[in-house]
Amino acid sequence: VQATAAPIAERDATSVSETGLPRTAVVGVLGGGQLGRMMALAAANLGVRVKCLDPAPEAPAAVAAEHVRGHFRDAAAIEDFVKGQGIDVLTMEIEHVNTDALEQAARDVQVDIEPSPATIRTIQDKFDQKRHFAAAGVPLPAFREVRCGGCMEATAGAFGYPFMLKARRLAYDGRGNYLVRGPGELEGAVAALGGYEAGLYAEQFAPFVKELAVMVVRSRDGRVVSYPVVETLHKDNICHVTEAPAEVPPAIREAARRVAERAVGCLQGAGIFGVEMFLLPDGSLLLNEVAPRPHNSGHYTMDGCVTSQFENHVRAVLGWPLGETRLHGGSVAAAAAASNGNGNGNGACCSAASNGVAAAEVEEEGEEGSCVAIMLNLLGEADGEEGVRRAHEVMGAAYDTPGCKVHWYGKEGMKVGRKVGHINILATSRREARERLGRLDPAAAAALQ
Ligand code: ATP
Ligand code: MG
Ligand code: MG
Repeated sequence: VQATAAPIAERDATSVSETGLPRTAVVGVLGGGQLGRMMALAAANLGVRVKCLDPAPEAPAAVAAEHVRGHFRDAAAIEDFVKGQGIDVLTMEIEHVNTDALEQAARDVQVDIEPSPATIRTIQDKFDQKRHFAAAGVPLPAFREVRCGGCMEATAGAFGYPFMLKARRLAYDGRGNYLVRGPGELEGAVAALGGYEAGLYAEQFAPFVKELAVMVVRSRDGRVVSYPVVETLHKDNICHVTEAPAEVPPAIREAARRVAERAVGCLQGAGIFGVEMFLLPDGSLLLNEVAPRPHNSGHYTMDGCVTSQFENHVRAVLGWPLGETRLHGGSVAAAAAASNGNGNGNGACCSAASNGVAAAEVEEEGEEGSCVAIMLNLLGEADGEEGVRRAHEVMGAAYDTPGCKVHWYGKEGMKVGRKVGHINILATSRREARERLGRLDPAAAAALQ
C-alpha cells in the first residue's frame, strides 16, 4: 500500500546495496502451496528471504521458505506473522485471504502489502470485480446480481439459456459455477451454489472459440507489462494445458494483451496478475476474471520466458526493476533444454532444424522467431499410490522427451484432480511442441489440435 508505507529502501538504509536494491528484505507470503513454493524458489535465486503463513503441517513452499503455521484468513495469525517475523513486504499466493486483517496490518504495522488490500477485496468478490472492470471500460460478458427467484427469471429473460450462475466469493476450479440450461434448472442451480444468502450473480454465456490468458506484471509505480498470450484448455474445469503463443492471428494476440493490460492497469499495487479471457467467433475478446497472484496459465514462463512470472512477482513487490517478459528465441530454448539434460541422443531438442524444416517456417510458428512453450498440468488421476504411479509414468516420459522440464510440487498425499506438478515443453515449432505433448499425454495433444 504505497500510501501508508515508505519504500523499503527509505525505511532501512542499511539494507540497501550499492546498486540501490534492498539486501535483506523479508517477503511474507500468505499461503504456502505450489504457487508459494515456486515464488520462494525464484526469490531464493535472487537472494531474497521468504516466509510463508500456512495452516497445514507440511507446506510445499517450505522447500525454499520458512514455514510459519497459521491461517491466512485469521486476523491474529496475520498480525503475529507480520510483526513477529519481521516481514517487510507482505504478498499472497491465494486471493481468499482476510482483507480486513490486511487493511488493519497496513494501518498498524509498518508493512507494504502488494498488491494492495483494496485490489484483493475487489477481486475476491467476482461481482464487485466485474463492476470494477466494467467501470474501467474492460469488455465483459453481461452480468447481473441475483438475489431472488424473480431475479433468476428476469436473468433468464434477459440472457436466454444457457447462462452462468456464479458464487460471488471463494470460487476456484469451477466450483462455484453452474451452467443453467433451462427453466427447470433455476432452483437447483441456486441451491447447488448455497442459496441466495451465499451471494450469487449471473453472467451471459460467452460462446467462445478459445480461452486465452495473459500474465501481467504491475510495478509499484503502476506500470504494467504483459507476457505473451496463451491458449488455455481445461479438464473438468481445472486448467490442464496451455500453449504459448496462442494460435491466433497476431492482431488478436495484440488485442488480448491490451485488454489484459487495461484490466490490471485499473487495479492498485504491485505484483503479477493472471487475466483470463474468452475469444468469440467474431474475433472480439471478453474478460473472464483476474487473479491477483501467479497463475497456472503463467507456469510456462518458468522455462519459456526470459523472466518467470514468479521472479517478476518478487521483483515487482520489492520495487525492483522488472525482467523481460518475452518468450525465449527458438534456438535459445532448444539450447537451454539440451543443456539441462533433456536430450534425445543427439543432445538437442530442436529437431525442426535437424529435420531440414526451413528457418522461415520455424519462425512463422512462434512469435517473431520465439520458441513455443506448452504446459501440461499433472492432475491427480487417482487417489493414493495409483495416482502417484500414473503421475510418475508421465514424468518418466517427460524425462525421456527432448525439450521437457518437470516441476513436481512435493505435496503430501495424492488425490483425484489435485495439482501435483506440471511439465513445460519447449520446441522451436508448434508442430514439434504438440508432438512432444503427444508423447506425454495423447488426449491432451488431441484437445489442442
Ligand atoms: P479458476 O480456477 O480459473 O479461478 P473459477 O472457479 O473462478 O476458476 P471461472 O473462471 O469463472 O471459474 O470459470 C471456469 C470456466 O467456466 C471458464 O474457464 C470457462 O471455461 C467457463 N466459463 C466461465 N464463465 C463463463 C461464461 N460467462 N461463458 C462461458 N463459459 C464460462
Ligand atoms: Mg477464479
Ligand atoms: Mg477462471
